[in-house]
Amino acid sequence: MGGNEHADVVVVGSGFGGAVTAYRFAEAGHRVVLLERGKAYPPGSFARSPTEIAANFWDPSQGRHGLFDVWSFADFEAVVSSGLGGGSLIYANVLLRKDEKWFVRDAPAGEGYENWPISRADLEPHYAAVEKTIGVQRFPKGQPRYQASRRTELLEQAGERLGYTAEQPPLAVTFGVGGDAPVPGAPIGEPAYGNIHGRPRITCVLCGECDLGCNYGSKNTLDHTYLSAAVHHGANVRVHHEARSITPRDGGGYTVGYVVHTPGDVVATSALPQRTITCDRLVLAAGTLGTTYLLLRNRAALPGISRMLGRRFSGNGDLLGFVSGVPGPALGSAHAPVITTAVRVPDAVDSHGGHAGGHTGGRGGPGADRGCYIEDAGYPGFAEWLVEAANLDNEASRIVRTVYELIRSRLTGGPSRQIGALVGRLLGPGEASAGAMPLLGMGRDIPTGKISVRDDYLQIENYPADSQPYFERLDRLMEDLAEEMGGKYHRNPLTLLSRVITVHPLGGASMGTDITTGVIDEWGEVFNHPGLYVADGAALPGPVGANPSLTIAAFADRLAEHAVDAGPVLETQP
Ligand SMILES: Cc1cc2nc3c(=O)[nH]c(=O)nc-3n(C[C@H](O)[C@H](O)[C@H](O)COP(=O)(O)OP(=O)(O)OC[C@H]3O[C@@H](n4cnc5c(N)ncnc54)[C@H](O)[C@@H]3O)c2cc1C
Ligand code: SF4
Repeated sequence: MGGNEHADVVVVGSGFGGAVTAYRFAEAGHRVVLLERGKAYPPGSFARSPTEIAANFWDPSQGRHGLFDVWSFADFEAVVSSGLGGGSLIYANVLLRKDEKWFVRDAPAGEGYENWPISRADLEPHYAAVEKTIGVQRFPKGQPRYQASRRTELLEQAGERLGYTAEQPPLAVTFGVGGDAPVPGAPIGEPAYGNIHGRPRITCVLCGECDLGCNYGSKNTLDHTYLSAAVHHGANVRVHHEARSITPRDGGGYTVGYVVHTPGDVVATSALPQRTITCDRLVLAAGTLGTTYLLLRNRAALPGISRMLGRRFSGNGDLLGFVSGVPGPALGSAHAPVITTAVRVPDAVDSHGGHAGGHTGGRGGPGADRGCYIEDAGYPGFAEWLVEAANLDNEASRIVRTVYELIRSRLTGGPSRQIGALVGRLLGPGEASAGAMPLLGMGRDIPTGKISVRDDYLQIENYPADSQPYFERLDRLMEDLAEEMGGKYHRNPLTLLSRVITVHPLGGASMGTDITTGVIDEWGEVFNHPGLYVADGAALPGPVGANPSLTIAAFADRLAEHAVDAGPVLETQP
């Protein structure tokens, strides 16, 4: 313990919530210190060999300080990221706005209702600000040198034939520079605020490796954008720093206890010496799981915090499926970024309005009329290792199997199966190639999950419980699309084991209109704890439906703007 360091604002985590708030506070002249537990990944540093990937997990007690943080809960798995830039390092770049009518306002009742205290109109200027700072472009489908990705066109056409809307969604990827025609491999110039890595970046070379980290700097990840801008404005960004404790200070502000990791050292986090920093404002942006864990773990130090803490967890309705045997030329899965097309399937609220008040498809609703998005997924993504693990019989396969075993060893309670082998058996030998691709589904599941901490471990129960009708509909829709593409649909084997895997965990410290319905207000401030904010996915009171990062970033931008305009924090603790 010890140290007298003080900052105006401490930000915990450097994903969408943390990077945006750090930048906005620093730009406004506040002294900002950002604590990120993971390391920095300049272009060229992302793992590619099976041996490197096998070690690329977050588990400090085993000496692993890598990029992928895999969680296993009672009925589902979750994958998040650990590194400077958070989930942007491994995400599939899709930056969609949340549908206007999906900001539903159910009457509060039971566990799974949604009541968004903000609307699309509230976020609109912030969506625009984030899109501008990150830089979004659409996949240049059909243009010279971008024609090899047949899956882009096939999924779009299949979706439209079934009567849905389909588009190339906005991507946080640079294909062309400064309004020039897109061209792979062109140099990307540095913005006026510079770049924290100081390494050259080039336009997308269409390798399909976005979920493993972009070694070319073509993804406009948060380290290249918001975090570089934050540092330019004086923010002090520290990697390997993990926040552990939060204590309100007499007279206002907070003391944050943190530990410093040394990559490669085999030390349990709880055994590391704790240091402290004080601040006037504390922004929690450690991701849905990280922030909710921090708040639950420190609950005793936060009297009067809402009883809604840990409630309203949603996996954003994530479901993974596979198509194989699509006839004709190869799908060209490795010739484009991971996601290039999004098919939107409507929701019952689209026709009768999400803001009308009353019940709009919450817990009591059938679930079968809840909207969703279905997107293509290129190879190689993380699912690819599992497929290949089942089909290869060599050294690489053995190592990849070991990676899977690492994941499996963290499963608790559920049936233990070799998922890679299951996928391989389903697809058959050789089908994990030309005519096959994963489909990624997501949408308006029911946020019934309950997060708790037992023996210092995070637990999530009661999810996906009531969302079963939603998942069944999504599964049927993916099957329809697969057949429309002329291929054969394969359910994710995890679904066969009644488990799902989410890469979009949300909720746990969500916003509400008052302390009985939420942990934070619509500006991200924790009820009864002035100056303490939640700026990440934990803040959302239900599924986004579409990919959530842009909505998280826009919420964080709105939070920071309001806090900066509000001036010094007023002391009103109970
Ligand atoms: C494979 C994959 C593909 C995806 N594709 C998309 C996509 O195309 N579009 C989309 O919108 N979303 C996508 N997502 C989801 C997206 O990554 C997340 O929704 C988003 O990153 C969440 O932002 P956040 O600010 O809530 O937290 P995160 O981005 O998860 O950031 C949290 C950060 O906090 C750090 N941290 C955690 N605990 C602590 C602590 N105690 N102290 C210090 N630091 C801490 C973590 O290391 C991490 O860097 C994808 C996710 C995955 C895994
Ligand atoms: S396809 Fe390859 S080069 Fe393009 S953004 Fe993804 S990882 Fe980077």
